[in-house]
Amino acid sequence: MLTTPFDDDQLHEECGIFGVYRHADAARHVALGLHALQHRGQEAAGIVAFDGARFQAHRAMGHVAEAFESDRVMAELAGYTAIGHVRYATFGATILRNVQPLFADMSFGGFAVAHNGNLTNAMALRRRLVKAGCIFQSTSDTEVILHLVSTSQQNGVIDRFIDALKQIQGAYSLVALTDNMMIGVRDPLGVRPLVLGKFEDGTMVFASETCALDIIGADFVRDVEAGEIVIVSDEGIRSLKPFGSPKSRFCIFEHIYFARPDSIVDGRSVYDVRKHIGAELARESGVPADVIIPVPDSGVPAAIGYAAEAGVPFELGIIRNHYVGRTFIEPTQQIRNLGVKLKHNANRPQIEGKRVILVDDSIVRGTTSLKIVQMVRDAGATEVHMRIASPPTTHSCFYGVDTPERSQLLAATHDIEGMRKFIQADSLAFISMDGLYRAMGEPRRNTDAPQYCDACFTGDYPIPLTDHWGSEEDGPRLPLFSKAI
Ligand code: AMP
Repeated sequence: MLTTPFDDDQLHEECGIFGVYRHADAARHVALGLHALQHRGQEAAGIVAFDGARFQAHRAMGHVAEAFESDRVMAELAGYTAIGHVRYATFGATILRNVQPLFADMSFGGFAVAHNGNLTNAMALRRRLVKAGCIFQSTSDTEVILHLVSTSQQNGVIDRFIDALKQIQGAYSLVALTDNMMIGVRDPLGVRPLVLGKFEDGTMVFASETCALDIIGADFVRDVEAGEIVIVSDEGIRSLKPFGSPKSRFCIFEHIYFARPDSIVDGRSVYDVRKHIGAELARESGVPADVIIPVPDSGVPAAIGYAAEAGVPFELGIIRNHYVGRTFIEPTQQIRNLGVKLKHNANRPQIEGKRVILVDDSIVRGTTSLKIVQMVRDAGATEVHMRIASPPTTHSCFYGVDTPERSQLLAATHDIEGMRKFIQADSLAFISMDGLYRAMGEPRRNTDAPQYCDACFTGDYPIPLTDHWGSEEDGPRLPLFSKAI
């Protein structure tokens, strides 16, 4: 979810969602599922549970383990159904009223919703709703969905929900809870992931990724399809497709960086895809070297694939300290620089006197690469070559993966040689778009109908950016940007 500039606090967020229907200990299972999804959001976590009579919510800042460690909190969340959310905010003030799942009492009863993704017309909708008298409690775009459901003229929860979904634009995977249903939804292009799982006793589960099913011993059933609404109730499971069957445009960056490597996402093993990308990279831009070293952790599978294809030894030449948060979430450049030093250390014996190929998943601002190249040189490398397991990140994401604004993306302002100079490597290469698609099992990118959302590499945004572009009536809300680089 993305928050709207209600106050000054504007946040970009990436999230994980999870839900359990009909289990004696639903909230504890949701807490475990959220723990497995912690990489999708480390800023805050929340659970809403229903016990047949009352909805109970607990939301807290910080990691899942701390948010739900108290027995008192878990006892309050007793109930047979629960949904939960982890949130990743990368800058701006973080406030508890934005922490999900959001909940509201409506004319038909309670309604809770957890959202992964960003709505791209939330500000336009919000202005309309505020004009009509709606009072917003949070700065979150997700709250728009609650007001659209609440003010819908349709009868019945599902028809109201569909009515709301037809008005929103953007990328969204949602898990919603009412007093007799748990509902999972993916946006018409299925940009963000959502899977359905099941326990042996029939308890149903929704999760952003399959790694969250594994942790609680649930079996993977299937992906929720693009544009599909899956309704889980005591009557069983129903599937609705109110948007027809548009062609899916799953986020390719989930495979490159965001999803956990032990997840099966969009029918593919994330680990295998990353290894295939590494192998393609070695074929496309191999260079003589003595050792392949991943930038941990996100570069590891691609480096394994690269090393196997190149026939060069793979070594852990950089060791990561796991007790430091992701460098990316630090708010200032100064602290980001410090964060990288805190996070990585050179494993000198694996580097000294060697020609090194470093493999990382992506370059965003270039901060990490610059530091790592320097660190490897300081540890005695004779040559340092950087290989990146994604094409250059030239465009911001508006669909739920945090990237800084375009002016801060190194690839938006530098060509490859300029980037090489910036990170001070002896050579720099990125995988090509076709190489990336080949690694995904597609012969090449279909330019008429791309198979994935790859807007961060191409500027080809498949969903209108209404708030960003602005409407004629309202004027642009955010700085305009040029599409092609
Ligand atoms: P930078 O240092 O700004 O170039 O960021 C690149 C590093 O951040 C890479 O090592 C990636 O693993 C990581 N990264 C890339 N995209 C994201 C993201 N959306 N959120 C957090 N980390 C990211």
